[in-house]
Amino acid sequence: PKPSFKWCRVLLKVSGEALAGDQTQNIDPKVTMAIAREVAAVTRLGIEVAIVVGGGNIFRGSSWAGSSGLDRSSADYIGMLATVMNAMFLQATMESIGIPARVQTAFRMSEVAEPYIRRRAVRHLEKGRVVIFAAGTGNPFFTTDTAAALRCAEINAEVMLKATNVDGVYDDNPRHNPNASLLDCLTFQDVLSRDLSVMDMTAITLCQENNIPGIAKPFNLIDRCLQSE
Ligand code: UDP
Repeated sequence: PKPSFKWCRVLLKVSGEALAGDQTQNIDPKVTMAIAREVAAVTRLGIEVAIVVGGGNIFRGSSWAGSSGLDRSSADYIGMLATVMNAMFLQATMESIGIPARVQTAFRMSEVAEPYIRRRAVRHLEKGRVVIFAAGTGNPFFTTDTAAALRCAEINAEVMLKATNVDGVYDDNPRHNPNASLLDCLTFQDVLSRDLSVMDMTAITLCQENNIPGIAKPFNLIDRCLQSE
């Protein structure tokens, strides 16, 4: 009998920081391989996986804006380009283990990747390909978390899973506060009222308005997808 899945189509948000792992390099190939293997296991079961990648491991617009005369929009475009590098790395890693993957960019870079076309992305997913959305929303002043919430709503993914380099959502920054405790369950309201920096406000609002549940710590992706409610 076919195992029953909790979700059929998931959106995985991989932050740039997660890709960096513990390395001094921008991207740790061990991390991309670990992600590719998790995704492979899930897609082989027939679950459709779309990914939105961040770029914070290479360039974060907000921290550069202002320096050397860089205006925020230019800095953000550089940040979006950084996500394309991560996306291409992830695509190559997936394909090296036999998982067909397609990068789609929010702005045209047709020599290196497909442009984002919603229907085409959905078609890829239906054919069992992993779609990696790059260049965020294509607009400065936004984040890839917002891009993840947006794409999640657009392709009707049932859940947004966040891959970060901490093991879940804490009530404080666990790197700075050793007493920070891991939260089991939290609502959008908790996130807003307790000012938990899980995602930015725009992303949270988008998830909330579209009833997208968000879950951090998806590294046991397969268990997550199989686990019953
Ligand atoms: N960015 C942007 N618009 C978007 C998505 C991203 O301008 O829709 C830029 C922004 O400068 C951001 C950078 O790309 O700092 C990298 O993305 P993000 O910081 O969200 O990556 P993450 O924190 O997930 O690594």
